[in-house]
Amino acid sequence: MNKHVLYGIVFVTAFFLFSFAIIDSQTGVDESSMDKKVNPGSNFYLYANGTWLANNPVPASESKWSNFNIVTERNNEVLKQILENAAANTNAPVGSTIQKVGTFYRLFMDTLKRDAQGIMPLVPVYQKINDIQNKTELISNVAELHEMGIRSFFGFYVSQDLKNSTSYICYLSQSGLGLPDRDYYTKTDRRSEEIRNAYKKHITESAKLFGIVDSNFASDVFAIENELARYSMTRTERRNQEKQYNKYAFADLLALYPNLKFDLYFKANKISNPDSIIVSQPAFFAHLNSLFDSLGVFQLKQYVLWNAFNTSMGYLGSSYERKNFEFYGTILSGAKEQKPIWKRGITAANSVVGELLGQLFVEKVFTPDSKKQVNEMVDLIVEAFKIRINQLEWMSAETKKMALIKLNSFNRKFGYPDVWTDFKNLEVKPDSYLENYFRAAKFSHKDMLSKLGKPIDRNKWSMLPQTVNAYYSPTLNEIVFPAAIMQAPFFDPKADPAINFGSIGAVIGHELTHGFDDQGSKYGADGNLKSWWTNEDKIQFEKRTQKLIEQYNSYKMLDSLPINGALTLGENIADFGGLTIAYEALKMYTRKNPLPIINGFTPEQRFFIGFAQVWKNNARPEAIRQLIMTDPHSPGEYRVLGTLSNMPSFFEAFGIQKGQQMYKKPEERVVIW
Ligand SMILES: [Zn+2]
Repeated sequence: MNKHVLYGIVFVTAFFLFSFAIIDSQTGVDESSMDKKVNPGSNFYLYANGTWLANNPVPASESKWSNFNIVTERNNEVLKQILENAAANTNAPVGSTIQKVGTFYRLFMDTLKRDAQGIMPLVPVYQKINDIQNKTELISNVAELHEMGIRSFFGFYVSQDLKNSTSYICYLSQSGLGLPDRDYYTKTDRRSEEIRNAYKKHITESAKLFGIVDSNFASDVFAIENELARYSMTRTERRNQEKQYNKYAFADLLALYPNLKFDLYFKANKISNPDSIIVSQPAFFAHLNSLFDSLGVFQLKQYVLWNAFNTSMGYLGSSYERKNFEFYGTILSGAKEQKPIWKRGITAANSVVGELLGQLFVEKVFTPDSKKQVNEMVDLIVEAFKIRINQLEWMSAETKKMALIKLNSFNRKFGYPDVWTDFKNLEVKPDSYLENYFRAAKFSHKDMLSKLGKPIDRNKWSMLPQTVNAYYSPTLNEIVFPAAIMQAPFFDPKADPAINFGSIGAVIGHELTHGFDDQGSKYGADGNLKSWWTNEDKIQFEKRTQKLIEQYNSYKMLDSLPINGALTLGENIADFGGLTIAYEALKMYTRKNPLPIINGFTPEQRFFIGFAQVWKNNARPEAIRQLIMTDPHSPGEYRVLGTLSNMPSFFEAFGIQKGQQMYKKPEERVVIW
């Protein structure tokens, strides 16, 4: 549900959300995680991580367990302290950061109050939907609900114009599903069918908690979602932005989808006569337009009601929150029990006032020194990338020149925003968590709308400082590293440089390579979606990326579940390019600063072990199935095995020979960046 086109190192589940960190220094190869009985040439992932994998099962409240979770846990301890202090400070001046953050956390933690309030905080919304008499009123209501953070039917947002990156434009996109992806509705295997049945049961039981006893409620709602899903693009199709760039004059939009009454929708958003609109999935909107004609207002209202329930359940009393967890946490993701309430409180606070919380977080964990050091690593990795580009045998001088122009114009951001979002106009009251959630959503919506017609806000971040992740934005042509990922085990100023190059170095390389993956490479240095490739080079590039699609298609999880090579292509290119240039940078570094052998490992060996150890993870089968369908990243195991099996420098570092499983003959290896 990401609003903007951006590529993270791990799954970006939502625009706002998530986590934090302080971890003990780890200065070298973590030998205690390794399984030295495994030959590095047969399965390097197990060689580097086997003991850790055997000893670190997924905790009951989680669906997956990895370095990203471990760092998040440590960050949570810091955030807990911040939030508890803020919540205890009941004398903080109204309007202050402490008052806002503290009130949110206090209201979430007060389950007695939440239980006593029942559905009260949602009643005005409920009432309004009930009162709708006709489809005209419904559209205005949908606009209001979108503003409050309640999704239904479709999505609307303001973002950079992909083909005119110096201005903002309105986008309309497919949305409105309660399951994580359209494939959950269309796939015919047994597991998908079971999930659909469980979802319908979940709708019925949840509706009962809200006092709805209509026995057709779930089937009415599901029928609409099913129609939306059938006309939604797949995730793989949605990677291609060119196909989703359909610009219409406002009058044409109104004429194309008359039943959707976009004049009312835009009026409700106080946008009069926008110049043009981008419709990301025209077939989806055409079908929605006909659904609005064929379905009765009662059924459409049922669907809208369900969306209001579904959004609110995690924030109402404990029985609602538990019900929501049973479906989304347990059935879909495999977690056995809810996280402790304070952790849920952190997630909730991050989702509404994450940037305010981030300001308090970076005061505690971020040092300008780490920014300086990571910035120097970026310098070196950019240099290494230039050398690689100049050496490429398959690319013409003409395209190389353009690639270097793009590489030289990358912007960098580290730690946290130079200019924070101004939350002055966000009012936080002591009434209820849910009502504050709605206020915060309205605040963000207004902030987003205020961008229209203004110059691009280059200070804006699309991730929180406390999120353990990093991203590349093609329209801003920038790489961004939140404070949370600039910590051990990803980066440690005291660590062996070989390990830092294999961990944060590979992450930096990964983000830079996103500017040159199958989609990122379609954007120029100025952030516009416009090709700078010669035809011949493009053909060469696609031949190589096709080989990578086939390679990953051949990998299977849970014995029979294949990775989707096309969905994960961009990330697989970024992993491969990223590790290749990080290795080149290590070699540049060691030529000037020779590194010793440590505990029998050469610097090159430590580099590859460090990389493989970043991606160690255990996951529940439910979570694996969900991620294979929805995550554009390959599972950690294949991020390691797939990437290394194309790298001659890896074979050399460990003396891997023909006949070993990790080995690939030179003519079978993929060469891209
Ligand atoms: Zn990525």
